[in-house]
Amino acid sequence: MLSYRFRKEYYYCSSCDEQFTTDELDGSVEPEWYCPKCKENLDIFALDKDEKLVVQRKYPEDLVVGDRIYVVGYGYHGIHKLMNKNKIKKGYALSLLEHGRLEVAKDQWLNIHEGTWNPSNTSIDLNI
Ligand SMILES: [Zn+2]
Repeated sequence: MLSYRFRKEYYYCSSCDEQFTTDELDGSVEPEWYCPKCKENLDIFALDKDEKLVVQRKYPEDLVVGDRIYVVGYGYHGIHKLMNKNKIKKGYALSLLEHGRLEVAKDQWLNIHEGTWNPSNTSIDLNI
């Protein structure tokens, strides 16, 4: 599973220093995962069991070599660096360090690992 949503997510634009709710994002089909004001990628502060991650969400065409992709599935989760990306018929073939080849559709967004955070020491409003 790649398009994984964490149990609790907070959406924040570091350029605008502003926090958004899902209602403020374009939720028509899938949220766009960019700031509705400046169009920069949102930082997503995620809480999920013992995970406290900051991720960005990108579609395969926006991925760049070196992105750290969050892979989840069957009791496994890990972060794997993108080594190479090739366009194929159904979308893209990604080659991930210590994971191997992964085929993704054009419209399948992925979580990109940016770092970790501490909910008790943050400017994010946890009540939104
Ligand atoms: Zn912004």
